[in-house]
Amino acid sequence: AIDDSKPAAADTKMEEEEPEEIVDAVEGDPREHLNLVFIGHVDAGKSTLSGNILYLTENVDKRTIEKYEAEAKERNRESWFLAFIMDTNEEERAKGKTVEVGRAKFETDLHRYSILDAPGHKNYVPNMIMGASQADVGVLVISARKGEFEAGFDKGGQTREHALLAKTLGVTYLVVVINKMDEPTVKWSKVRYDECIGKLRPFLKGCGFKIKKEVKFMPISGLNGANVKDEVAESECGWWKKMWQAGDNNTDKPTLMSLLDSLDMKGRMADAPVRIPVLDRYTDRGTIAMGKVESGTIRPGMKVTVMPTRQKFKVDGVWSEETPLASARPGENVLVKLSGASMEEVQKGFVICTEPACRSVDKLICQIMVMDLPDQARILTAGFTANFHAHCAEEEATVTKIFETTDRKGKVTKGARFANIGQTVICMIELARTVPLEPFDDYPFLGRFTLRTEGKTCAIGVIKKLPPKKE
Ligand code: GDP
Repeated sequence: AIDDSKPAAADTKMEEEEPEEIVDAVEGDPREHLNLVFIGHVDAGKSTLSGNILYLTENVDKRTIEKYEAEAKERNRESWFLAFIMDTNEEERAKGKTVEVGRAKFETDLHRYSILDAPGHKNYVPNMIMGASQADVGVLVISARKGEFEAGFDKGGQTREHALLAKTLGVTYLVVVINKMDEPTVKWSKVRYDECIGKLRPFLKGCGFKIKKEVKFMPISGLNGANVKDEVAESECGWWKKMWQAGDNNTDKPTLMSLLDSLDMKGRMADAPVRIPVLDRYTDRGTIAMGKVESGTIRPGMKVTVMPTRQKFKVDGVWSEETPLASARPGENVLVKLSGASMEEVQKGFVICTEPACRSVDKLICQIMVMDLPDQARILTAGFTANFHAHCAEEEATVTKIFETTDRKGKVTKGARFANIGQTVICMIELARTVPLEPFDDYPFLGRFTLRTEGKTCAIGVIKKLPPKKE
């Protein structure tokens, strides 16, 4: 059924504009699209690496490079010019910190990529959540420099929290780059590389990553580009060739670019019902929603249902940036124009669906892992409140019932009344308002979440069960 609540005038207007937009629509680029999120501790080299990738794939013109070089020189930070490519806002440049989630694109013969540059600064974890909720591949940047690896990994360092978030929010692969291998304190030392990896492996396993299938390792210099596009010179690093040829790092590719190109994004469901969590929206002769197609294939002319409101709209156009598309498959970041929709009717955290639409609930049974707790609450009990983050949605949440806990040794306590840090808990969570969600086993990208409070990620979780459907 078509939504009949919208004014007829708006309808006519939309239809007049429609042909012009659809005539130009093109079939999307057949190359697979991947969103990359760069994560890791502040100063690990995320901006420098992503800037250099754009530079090496010739996505930055010479004039821009010269401008950035001059600018960096003026501020006595010559080596930072690559980071400037990513850090586009003035305030950030002055502080040398990447605050907003920057977006940039590059392509190879096999894939198209968007870089969502996640900031390393502690206050910006919520931005990182937004970035990672759209990411297919997390690039965890680790500084091998003496002292820096250790600082990033300690309590308070962001390496742990970012890796956990990336896993919960659903990256398919984690590429761990041991960066700054060119540093005078490192000099492409195999001992240092092995030391970093040796500490990361058990930790990433604890985050829930399947190390062999999902995690790849690689030594690089984001600054001079070694192992980014071209392999490091053998004179500089004699051991790398043997190592990648043997596949010791869960990959047999020599460079980061060839490794990214080798990633197989199977599991994308182009024939399933459409699911597009709304990241943001704006008006331009109608309301246009931004988001990543998580499943299904969206086309202009389709009827969609927006959850949680269940309102139905016609898709007036689908774009990748400026390009009108005839269809968009899973993995694409798109703009979707919804006929006659107002700004209130399409909000961040809503999900654009085709029927059968996803669920929208304010109660869920889930499994969470307690990571950290606010200083005054040493234990988690019923009544615990936090901010619930799932895909692009955020809502106030209360843990209303604990069913059982499992401690680190695997000991299960049924009917437990509280849980400690490190324990896994089966519990009920109630939300202040309904949020579009699904059980993790059906739609992983709509079934995982984090609980945050006071700037900390208290828990990560997956949805096990939703209340029975009312209809
Ligand atoms: P972010 O905070 O993770 O984005 O880190 P930046 O990209 O801003 O880099 C932080 C500092 O590390 C800057 O001074 C960079 O020049 C330096 N840096 C980044 N990558 C490398 C590298 O591969 N080698 C060396 N020697 N320094 C690097």
